[in-house]
Amino acid sequence: MTDGQNSRFQRPNRPNRTPNGQSSATGQNSSRGNRNSYPRRPPAPLSKTNAKASDTAHFVVRKHVVDRDEAAPLIPRNNRTNYKELNATLVRGNLAVAGLNPVLNNGPLMKTNSPATFPDGPIVRIIPLGGTSEVGMNMTVLECGDDIVIIDTGMGFGGGEKFPGVDYIIPDTEYLEQNRHKIRGLIYTHGHLDHIGAAPYILPKLGPVPIFGMPLTLALLKNRLMDYEMQDKLLAKVVEPGKPLKLGVFNFNFFRLNHSIPDVIGLAIDTPMGRIVYCTDWKFDNTPFDGQLSDYAKLAELGDEGGVRVLITDSLGILKPGYAMSEKEISKTVDKIFSQSIGRIIFTTFSTSISRVQAAVDAAVKYNRKLAITGRSMLTNFRTAFEMGYIKVPDNLIVDFKQAHLVPDDKLAILSTGSQGEDMAALSRMARDEHDTIKLQGGDSVVFSSSQIPGNEDSIQDLVAKLSRKGVDVYTPKEFNLHVSGHACHEDLKLLMALTKPDYLQPIHGDHYMLKSVGKLGCEMGIPFDHNLIGENGRVLELRPTQVVLTDDRVTDKYLLVDGMSVGSVSELVLAERRQMAAQGVIMLVLLINKKKELTAGPEIISRGFVYMKSSTALFDDIKESVREQFKHLDIDPHSASYFSELRQAVKTMVSQKVFAITEKEPVIIPVVVQL
Ligand SMILES: [Zn+2]
Ligand SMILES: [Zn+2]
Repeated sequence: MTDGQNSRFQRPNRPNRTPNGQSSATGQNSSRGNRNSYPRRPPAPLSKTNAKASDTAHFVVRKHVVDRDEAAPLIPRNNRTNYKELNATLVRGNLAVAGLNPVLNNGPLMKTNSPATFPDGPIVRIIPLGGTSEVGMNMTVLECGDDIVIIDTGMGFGGGEKFPGVDYIIPDTEYLEQNRHKIRGLIYTHGHLDHIGAAPYILPKLGPVPIFGMPLTLALLKNRLMDYEMQDKLLAKVVEPGKPLKLGVFNFNFFRLNHSIPDVIGLAIDTPMGRIVYCTDWKFDNTPFDGQLSDYAKLAELGDEGGVRVLITDSLGILKPGYAMSEKEISKTVDKIFSQSIGRIIFTTFSTSISRVQAAVDAAVKYNRKLAITGRSMLTNFRTAFEMGYIKVPDNLIVDFKQAHLVPDDKLAILSTGSQGEDMAALSRMARDEHDTIKLQGGDSVVFSSSQIPGNEDSIQDLVAKLSRKGVDVYTPKEFNLHVSGHACHEDLKLLMALTKPDYLQPIHGDHYMLKSVGKLGCEMGIPFDHNLIGENGRVLELRPTQVVLTDDRVTDKYLLVDGMSVGSVSELVLAERRQMAAQGVIMLVLLINKKKELTAGPEIISRGFVYMKSSTALFDDIKESVREQFKHLDIDPHSASYFSELRQAVKTMVSQKVFAITEKEPVIIPVVVQL
C-alpha cells in the first residue's frame, strides 16, 4: 500500500447493532416505551475471562470510579464470544498487545525454538510477522539454524471502527527479541511507511542490527527515525542491484521493481533449501518517471537457472484486472488541470509519492507558477528527495510558504499534506477558514493525488464537500486520472509467475481474500493447488528438503497497538470501551452517602452522547427513583471492604437493565459514590 503520512481518522461508530445480537425490529421482543416492563434479557453475568482480561486495562476515568470488575460489562455483548477467544492481553511499556485473530488461537505458540534441522538437512523458515492478515504493517522473517534476517518493519493505521483512538498498529516482535543473537541483518525494500514506519518502535527492541537498503529508502528511514530523535541508532549500509550480500547462510541478490516510489528492490535469496524470490510492493511500469524499469531480465534469469522454489509476492493489486497503469498517466492529468486553472492550485498527496510531487513541480514550471510547500513530512521528504537527486527542481521555483500569500493567485501552486482529510493538516485548516494566511475562494483548485486509506473515506469526503462549498474546484482520483495503483494487477502477477516459474507461491501484503485470489491465479498459472500457501501473520512456512510446508506453528498471534495520545496503554478491552462509548454514549451517576452508608443526596445524572429521547428527563427521574428505592433494600454489608465496589456494581447492573429495558441502548454506565 502507499503510505499515509500522519493520516488517521476516527470515524464515529454506527450504532447498527442491538444487544445480544437480536433484531430490534421484532415487535414481540420490543419493550420500547414500556417503562415498567422488566428487561427482556438482563445483562450477562461477569465471566472469568472478561474479568481477567481487564487486568491490563488503563482507564481514562479515575481509579475509584471504575474498578476491574465493573470494567468487564463494558465489552459490547455481541462481541463477547469473540472476545473470550482472544488471547489475554498484556502490556509492555507504552505498547499493548491485542489478540489478532480468534481463528488462529487454537495451537500452541512457539515460545522457544523448535528443532532447527531435520535429520536430512536444515530447515529454512519464512515467518511473516505482519502484512499477511491485513493491508499494511509489512514485516517478514527468514530463519535458518542460527541465522535470522528481517525484511521491513512496517506499520498499519489505527482508527476507524476496529481501532478507535489508536494511532498505529505494529507487528509483535517478541519472537525476534527472544532470538536477538541470531539476527544477521534487516533489509528494507522501500521507503513507504507500511514498510519502514514501525522502525522507531522495533529497532530499539532488536539491539544493534545492521540495516540494508537503497539510498532513498535509507534516507526516508532516517527522516522517520528523526521524528523520534533516533537517527543516531541507524547502522545502515546502502545496497546495489546486482551486487550480492551474504548474511549468515543467506545470499541476497537485489533487483529493481517499479512501484509508486523510486528505489524499490526485490530480493532473490539463495538458501540451503533453495531459492526464494521476494517481491515486495511492486508493479510493472514501462514508462516509470525515473526511467528505471523493473528488471525483467533478472526475473527471467532467476526462473531459468536452477529455478525458484518459493515466490513471495505483493497481493494488494490482485483485484484489479489488466495491467497496472503507469505513473506517467498522472502527469498528463496534472498538466491539464494546471493549464485550465485561473486561481491558486493546491496539490495534495503523500509526501513519499515522489513521482506525484515531481508532476506538480513540472506543471508549476510549465505554467509559470511559484511553488510553496506546507506540512512537516512534505517539507522533510521533499528536501531529502531533492538533495539526493530524485526530484528535479529549478532554481527560483520554491517560495517560502509564509510568503505564499504575496504571490498573485494565478502564479501560485501549493504542495500540501492532508490528502487523507487529517484534521490538523494545512489543507483542512484552509477548508475551515482557520488558516492564518491562505484563504480559499472561488476560482482556486484543490487536486487530490492519492489513494484513500481504508477508514479515511468519510473524512476525505467531508473535506471535499467543505472545499466545494467554498466554490473551490476539486479534483479527486474518483473522476480524474490522479492516482494509479502502485501494485501489480492481475496481468502483472501472471507475467511475474510466468517469468519466475516458481515451484511454490506465498502471497503476502493483503487481506485473506487478496492472498487467496493470488493463490487462485497461481493455480491458473499451473502451480499445483497445494503449492499455493496462504499464510497468516506469525504462521511458520518451512522449506524442507522434499517439500515446502505451511506448518501449524505460530510465533505470534498479536498486534501491538500504539496510542500516541496516552502514556498508558491500549488493550482490546479499552478498544471495546471506546467503541461502546462512541456508539452508545455515557451515563454517569453521582451518589452522596454519609458515614452510616445512607444515601444523602442524588443520584445526580450526567450523560454524554446518549441520544435516546428528545427529553431524557422522564427516564432519568425514573432511574433516580429506582436508585433511591434500591438503596432501601440493599443487601451489602456496610462494613465489608468491598462495600464500594459492590455498591457500584449493584447500581450499575440495575441502571443498565433499566436503560436497556426502556431504550434498548447500552451506554457505558459509570456510578461514582462519594462518602462525606
Ligand atoms: Zn506496502
Ligand atoms: Zn509501498
